[in-house]
Amino acid sequence: MRKKIVAANWKMNKIAAEARSYIESLLVELGEATDVEVVLIPPFTLLPLCSQMLGESPSVRLGAQNMHPAKSGAFTGEISASMLRDLYARYVVVGHSERRQLFGESDGFVGEKVRAAHDASLRPILCVGETLGERTAGHVEQVIDRQLGAGLHGVDAKEMGETVIAYEPIWAIGTGHNATPEQAQAVHAHIREVIASLYAAPVAERVRIQYGGSVKPDNAAELLRQPDIDGALVGGASLDPRSFAAIVHAAREAKG
Ligand code: PEP
Repeated sequence: MRKKIVAANWKMNKIAAEARSYIESLLVELGEATDVEVVLIPPFTLLPLCSQMLGESPSVRLGAQNMHPAKSGAFTGEISASMLRDLYARYVVVGHSERRQLFGESDGFVGEKVRAAHDASLRPILCVGETLGERTAGHVEQVIDRQLGAGLHGVDAKEMGETVIAYEPIWAIGTGHNATPEQAQAVHAHIREVIASLYAAPVAERVRIQYGGSVKPDNAAELLRQPDIDGALVGGASLDPRSFAAIVHAAREAKG
């Protein structure tokens, strides 16, 4: 049984005072239950504050939005996996479509980050997903296969079990048009098949695959009930603690 994982990607939003009141509300809304893994992914600047506020909270983990694959060096403006570990991040988002599209990150570079994250005992959340043009042209599986092949290059079976995949169709991100549960389920099932063929069926059964793209409290339950949808990566709707908590509650109800 895979534990559902619901993550809040704040992107480039919030300053300290906003993060403080958000976390106070979120902890109240979530209560003590630990049946769903919740990951808060603030901007780098807020990682220390968030980790201090979350303390030993059993239900919420911290993640980062990006990292550089090098261990250290002359990479002005970048941050390494060990720096993120030092700030108590457990997860790191890798290959988000905004990084791929706005910052020109290639499949190969994304793969280097996945490798470097594992080397530092950070769990990567590897994002994959097609554009609307690629979907219309019938190339969804081809795009996913290419991104998975490069993104998982050099990852062994044990590390694969600790990697989270996020299927994020680009046409659904921030648009208000989520993939239907059937569309998402079909791609998630395909992703699991690809992992089974690259590793083995028991490894694929362990891997959690999140859906991301306009997840909201009113569409989360139906998406999260699909057999291969093991959680959500949430952008816009995660900025409000009540709406994010409602998505976590939907995951709780959908589990099993
Ligand atoms: C995202 O950017 O990962 C995302 C899923 O955003 P949104 O929920 O706003 O579509």
